[in-house]
Amino acid sequence: MKTLLPTSTAGSLPKPSWLAEPEVLWSPWKLEGEALVSGKHDALRVSLQEQEFSGVDIVSDGEQTRQHFVTTFIEHLDGVDFEKRETVRIRNRYDASVPTVVGPVSRQKSVFVEDAKFLRSQTDKPIKWALPGPMTMIDTLYDAHYQSREKLAWEFAKILNQEAKELEAAGVDIIQFDEPAFNVFFEEVNAWGIACLERAIEGLKCETAVHICYGYGIKANTDWKKTLGSEWRQYEEVFPKLKQSNIDIISLECHNSRVPIELLELVRGKKIMVGAIDVATNTIETPEEVADTLRKALKYVDADKLYPCTNCGLAPLSRSVARDKLSALSAGAEIVRKELLTQ
Ligand SMILES: [Zn+2]
Repeated sequence: MKTLLPTSTAGSLPKPSWLAEPEVLWSPWKLEGEALVSGKHDALRVSLQEQEFSGVDIVSDGEQTRQHFVTTFIEHLDGVDFEKRETVRIRNRYDASVPTVVGPVSRQKSVFVEDAKFLRSQTDKPIKWALPGPMTMIDTLYDAHYQSREKLAWEFAKILNQEAKELEAAGVDIIQFDEPAFNVFFEEVNAWGIACLERAIEGLKCETAVHICYGYGIKANTDWKKTLGSEWRQYEEVFPKLKQSNIDIISLECHNSRVPIELLELVRGKKIMVGAIDVATNTIETPEEVADTLRKALKYVDADKLYPCTNCGLAPLSRSVARDKLSALSAGAEIVRKELLTQ
């Protein structure tokens, strides 16, 4: 990436009202069949244009192609029965009715590759594509087959690797794995979670990222955050091992969070997507607030490795709020860019 402080988003952006109910997370599609296919492409075009107009440097599909960041991928796999549902606790935080793993999991054909090719055809900017991480996938399912979280995660890692290789061939520059579960199951992350992630990126030549956040601004997450005390030190548990991993970029929640920014020292040398936009509030950050978060991170992240970003996805926000937040991100990055170039 030649641009200094290239901006991007953690992933999702609001969907247009004709595609899905606005300001609702994981809202079902309003279209079906062929109309849905072209509707998603139209939404992707709009989302891309909004990112480009807001000055975002590394663009994405805004997750216009999926309803849910985990289950849309799993829906395309064999071995998971979506009719057979069980209630499980997600990330030790809230109960959800989830599908059941009933047999060996496998991927018959690519899931997002056609969408990624479409995005590639629409822009010359670097593109990032998000996939769920293996540990977050197993945490969103009831496993009646493997009866082992580790075994199932390993199988998903192999499947993700197949998909990632095809995304790379389609021209994706950065493949990101969303692993909010890395902020919860520390022992498993260190025992096998990071190893599974490395299996998922095996043989890739494009850049790879892992996104670890404190979740969307939904009540279950904001309630959980209230229980975490005055300092959020979750990252400290997984950073030492992540630093040793082959993952190129780590995407983190920094703005308005209680994460002590000095924890970034533990991953010095990695590229860091610094979350400088809060996704849990409609208040638009000022460019100066964004710049302030980036300046703090610069004490621990070398300038050529700092990627200004959002804390998480912006899907549950209104389109105008999301647009204004992206513009603030770009303006804040520009302030710091100028400072760095005149130093
Ligand atoms: Zn997130």
